[in-house]
Formats: sequence, C-alpha cells, structure tokens
Amino acid sequence: DRQKLGRMRRLSSKLASGEKVLLQANLELPAELPLIAQSGAAGIGLLRTEFLFINSEELPDETTQFELYASLVEAMGADTTTIRVLDWGGEKPSEALERAGLSTLGETPNPALGLRGIRLLLKHPALLETQLAAILRASAVGPLQVLLPMVTVAEEITAARDIYERVARRLRRKGVALAETLPPFGAMIETPAAALTAGVLAHHADFLAIGTNDLTMYALAADRASADAASLYDARHPAVLRMIADVVNAALQHRTPVSLCGEIAGDPALAPLLVGLGLRSLSMTASAVPRVKQVIRSVRYEECVRLGRRVLAETDSRAIMKVLQEFGNAEV
Ligand code: PEP
Ligand code: MG
Repeated sequence: DRQKLGRMRRLSSKLASGEKVLLQANLELPAELPLIAQSGAAGIGLLRTEFLFINSEELPDETTQFELYASLVEAMGADTTTIRVLDWGGEKPSEALERAGLSTLGETPNPALGLRGIRLLLKHPALLETQLAAILRASAVGPLQVLLPMVTVAEEITAARDIYERVARRLRRKGVALAETLPPFGAMIETPAAALTAGVLAHHADFLAIGTNDLTMYALAADRASADAASLYDARHPAVLRMIADVVNAALQHRTPVSLCGEIAGDPALAPLLVGLGLRSLSMTASAVPRVKQVIRSVRYEECVRLGRRVLAETDSRAIMKVLQEFGNAEV
C-alpha cells in the first residue's frame, strides 16, 4: 500500500469522471519542504509565516523575509505559493513581537477574539508593509498569491489592499523587480461573519481560502485547543458544512476562486464531500496528499454531488458521520 501511495505522486489529481482537483500542501516550517516534493502536492496552498515571528528575538526584516519567500517560490517552480501574512493571535508567545511592543498577550482576556490576524496587522501597518514588500519582491521569482488571515469585514480587505498597492508603487519607483501584474490578493474565510457574507468578500478579494480549523472553532464556540470542548469541535457539524457550501456558492457566483485549507482537507473520508460541495482546490498537510489523491481518483463527480446533498440534508454530526462512513464503505 505504501508503494502504491508512493506512485500516486506521479499520477494526475483527477476524479474518476475526469474533473481536475488541485491538491496543495500547507507549510508551517521550511524544513517541511522536502516532504512537499515527495507528496506530489501541486504547490503550497498555505504558507503559514508565523514561524518567522515566533522563533526569533527580533522581528524579521524585509530582506530576511524576502530570502525565505523567494527560496520557497523558487522551489515550487511553476506551481503557485500562497503566502499568508502573519496570523498572530497571542496563543504562542513571541519575544520579537513583545520586544517591539506589539503583543497584547496578557492584556486581552480572550486572545482568539482580540487583536488577531489582519486586525493586528492593520493596527500596526509597518508590520504589514514590511511583509508585503518582501512578498512582492519574491513575486519576481515565480507565481505567488497573498492571503489575509482572520478577515471579518470587507473593510479589512480594502484597507490591506490599499497598503499592498502603495508598497508596490514604492518598490517600482525604486526600480525593484516585481511580477508584472500584482499577485492575487485573497482573504481567508474563518469567521462565521466572513462565511455568511462571503459574497461581499468575494467581490473585494481575488480569491477566498476557507480555514475550517478556525471556522469550526468560532461557529461552535469550541476552542480548537481545549480538551473540554473537544467532543463538540467537529467540522462535520451541519453549521460548519452549510457555511462551507454557502461560501463556495458565493465564490462561484462572483467567479472568485475558492479553496479550503483547514485540517479536514487532508481527511480522505471527507474529500468526496468537499468536492460535492463544489470545491476543486484543497490544501493540506503534505503527508496527506497521496491518500487524498487516491480517493479523488476513485470517485465520480455525480456521486460526490449526491453525497453533498445527502449530507446537507442531515441535522447532526453523528448522522453525517454515518452517511460518510456508508459512502466510504461502498467505495472500497
Ligand atoms: C484554519 O484556520 O483552518 C487555517 C488553515 O489556519 P490556521 O490553522 O493556521 O489557523
Ligand atoms: Mg486559521
């Protein structure tokens, strides 16, 4: 079976009925890069840049960031790298941010509902400007996209985009090489507000990426890291799945590309359902790619759509699990 999975790397990622499904990898640390090559992932669907800010005493400067982004983009060749700007929420201490006076850790009763992700960056725009400048410089090396974390309202996208365009103009004036057209500028959908107004966000963003790890947490009011809430924390809850379906429909209506990059993207049992809800692009832990590809290659589009309809008709996670199990058993 391992050998079979090893061969998956070279096989195309298509449904049995022929439709292409893009499978990409999430990258949390540069050390995972060799795993991506082995997995057969078609690019990086989510580069989490937190490691640059958490594991150091100083804030990374533009050149340090540029060199790292450029090396990853280069390693991906013709495949796209989606770089998410800093999503710091105070859940992990960062000496660099604390020293720079940017950390609100210890002052906020509930960091997950405080100055997280894009909120922190817009409060301290210099942080965002430096990161965007480094990303824009890396765009001269190969295809990339920029992704904003923890978006709740459209104004966050427009405010960040203003900064993005201003930074690009400044770099061009200085004669710095950038991609000819600015890389796509997208928003993560990981709050219920963003999911329920995805149409508005799709209008302002060049692409959407559904982050089900946080979306599940905020939808079910169940901390993703809390043992007490673990039994509730389940992306198969109908509330979460309906939001995913709504986001995909809104994105399709606006012709805005949409992908999903939460942990569930790497669950082979959920892959046919996600396709059935309309997704054609999934980003996951690199090690999950071969197995998910195997499942993708074994199912037909119509079956996935039928599964999606059946699942959305259910009213609780347990019933949904049963439907998914039956589908899986019928497959093998
Ligand atoms: C998510 O929330 O689903 C996501 C992909 O982002 P992270 O896990 O980094 O919060
Ligand atoms: Mg998230």
